[in-house]
Amino acid sequence: MRKTSAAALILVILLGGIVLFFASDETSRTGFWGFVGGSKPLRAWTPATPSPTLKAPSAKPQNCGLLNVTVLDVGQADAIFIKTPGGKTILIDAGIYGRAANILKSQKIDYFVATHLHQDHIDGFKYLEKNVGAIYDNGDCGGNKMGTMLTTYEGFWQTHPHVAVTQDSAVEFDPCISVEFKVAYDRPQGCWTSNENENSILVRITYGSTSFLFAGDCEKNCEYTLLQQGTDLDAEFLKVGHHGSGTSSSADFVRAVGAQYYAISVNASESITKGYFHPRKASLTNIFGMGGFSEGTRFLYRTDLNGNLNYVSDGKTIRKSAYLTSPTLTEEFSGYSDADASTYGPIN
Ligand SMILES: [Zn+2]
Repeated sequence: MRKTSAAALILVILLGGIVLFFASDETSRTGFWGFVGGSKPLRAWTPATPSPTLKAPSAKPQNCGLLNVTVLDVGQADAIFIKTPGGKTILIDAGIYGRAANILKSQKIDYFVATHLHQDHIDGFKYLEKNVGAIYDNGDCGGNKMGTMLTTYEGFWQTHPHVAVTQDSAVEFDPCISVEFKVAYDRPQGCWTSNENENSILVRITYGSTSFLFAGDCEKNCEYTLLQQGTDLDAEFLKVGHHGSGTSSSADFVRAVGAQYYAISVNASESITKGYFHPRKASLTNIFGMGGFSEGTRFLYRTDLNGNLNYVSDGKTIRKSAYLTSPTLTEEFSGYSDADASTYGPIN
């Protein structure tokens, strides 16, 4: 009898230990996945609630002008300023320090979208908030550890209309265009991952027959999940994910978007200083694998090499600013000899 009780007790302790061992969060390095030195495999994605039907405006209203998109040169960070055909303004990410504010000055911003809550995407908000109408972001999925900077940013949720984007949705910022938010994370079932980059909101803006996709810092798991969900990613313009990191721009994702124009918001020397080495060869290889760059049918520009990147759509075609001439591949990728040659540097 005593032997049986002792055996039962040992069994309970063992089972408890096993449960605790496996009960780690998505990507933490504790528990089983930390033990085996890998990250937890992707779980199958099942939508908790059906996403709202997304549809482009049925008829283009009168008085729609041009859609103007500028990827601002804010160093190793993201900030994209958009003027809609109906005269509204959207800022996707605010960059770092006062760099975006230095460019935008006192420009009114009707809608601010933070793709995710990392410093290089929201730090600049405090310099711009006086001019901002409403804020859209992921509502803090908990994948960031940004301390005071984050507290300051989240403080603006009290002083501005704030929308936490929890699933794929469409918003009417301007009846001339369609603005869709695409998310890989599954907020109704809790935070998707502790890697905040993967909690990025993607923004797709369609004007007539032209589309722009802004990929935030979406990395491979995020890209894979979007593809698995059958998300419509097709766009003529792609703001390349995560500053051209090798953990983004998987070949399947790049193919699914099928863009003609690629913009990388990056500063290579700042990136090297920070140890990121963006943009990486792996992502550039996948982009250039699309072909057509030497023929002048696809175009890739970088904020550190080309400055502010400006694109204009009339609803039929996208054209880039005249100053964006196509640099040769050698100019585009050479000159960073200190980087790890296996993952960074000249593509050929
Ligand atoms: Zn970033």
